[in-house]
Amino acid sequence: IQSKLPQAGTTIFTIMSTLAAEHNAINLGQGFPDFAMNAALSELVSKAMADGHNQYVHMNGLPVLREAIAQKIKQLYGNPVSANDEITITPGATYALYTAFTAMLQPGDEVIVFEPAYDCYIPAIELNGAKAVTIPLTPGTYKIDQALTRAAITPKTKAILINSPHNPSGAVLEEDDIAFLTDITSNTNLFIISDEVYEHLIFDGKKHLSILQYPHLYERSFVTFSFGKVYNCTGWKTGYCVAPPALMKEFRKIHQFNAFTVFGPVQYALAAFLKDEAEYLELGSRLQQKRDYFKNLMAQTKFEPLPSYGSYFQIYSYANISDEKEYDMAVRLTKNYGVTTIPVSAFYKNPVENKVLRFCFSKKESTLEAAVERLLKL
Ligand code: PMP
Ligand code: GLN
Repeated sequence: IQSKLPQAGTTIFTIMSTLAAEHNAINLGQGFPDFAMNAALSELVSKAMADGHNQYVHMNGLPVLREAIAQKIKQLYGNPVSANDEITITPGATYALYTAFTAMLQPGDEVIVFEPAYDCYIPAIELNGAKAVTIPLTPGTYKIDQALTRAAITPKTKAILINSPHNPSGAVLEEDDIAFLTDITSNTNLFIISDEVYEHLIFDGKKHLSILQYPHLYERSFVTFSFGKVYNCTGWKTGYCVAPPALMKEFRKIHQFNAFTVFGPVQYALAAFLKDEAEYLELGSRLQQKRDYFKNLMAQTKFEPLPSYGSYFQIYSYANISDEKEYDMAVRLTKNYGVTTIPVSAFYKNPVENKVLRFCFSKKESTLEAAVERLLKL
């Protein structure tokens, strides 16, 4: 078979989780909580099945779930999106991103991607015959470099991809970033893909700035979300895409022939559960406690934290500890110390080595304590 992705190996998340299992290591690599999700929500899924909701739901997603999402978006972001025309439920955000790229891209198009970047973006762009033009985020702060971005825009640029809160750094977009995006996209045909899966996982009093709240940006955007992150059930692989009607129409043309529809019982459960606003509004402060707990423990080690204002993740520098490359360091930590992390170099098309590792702190306190106890031996 002729490979469609000749450069691609296996994703770093699978590599590191497999290694963690082989060495019985504490897995702070792949981003998933190790504590139980809310039982009331999982019980609603069983109830939906027992109630006989076991056949195909509408291809765009269960109407009551789309209504509940539309209401949430109106309340949080002041945007009266149409549940009928602007929201589609998807099997995860990864699928939503892939479908958005497929709907939008023509061969030869260019997409601006800020690096480090979550690893599904660039392959999805390339599989659609387009080119990812990568721009480094500012070292240390992981902020968008405006001059580099302006210089990268060519007549072939079709879209700009943004992700806030950002994986892997935990950086978040600020008003000046929004003003910049507005400036470079107004009076152009540029699209925006905005990956907002960590919308509620934001700390230190920062506010999530969603593309949905800026009409002049939203009119050209596909915005993606994941319930896995909101309700601590990453294995459910259920998310959604929000886009203006003309864009969503093209998105759905592809979705109808690919997944067509998403597991139904979960959609019934989510529709009921979304009514409880506190469940998602309190997420940020609950997770911040974990981040702070982890950072306090890590302060005893030689690792040095970089700022993180959101997501499941905290980047640490190990420059004080070793000169090794990030992947080698991550493998050694797993094998010799029993703690698994993700090398940030895996988030670049051409790996950049900064001696930094990504730690997932969305874990039980006992897990974080056990991991740090092991890291203290370094
Ligand atoms: N975007 C980012 C930034 C992520 O970290 C992830 C991983 N969960 C996804 C998208 C994919 O979400 P899902 O599991 O719903 O496909
Ligand atoms: N988004 C998660 C992370 O960054 C993992 C998702 C995956 O394993 N593909 O760790």
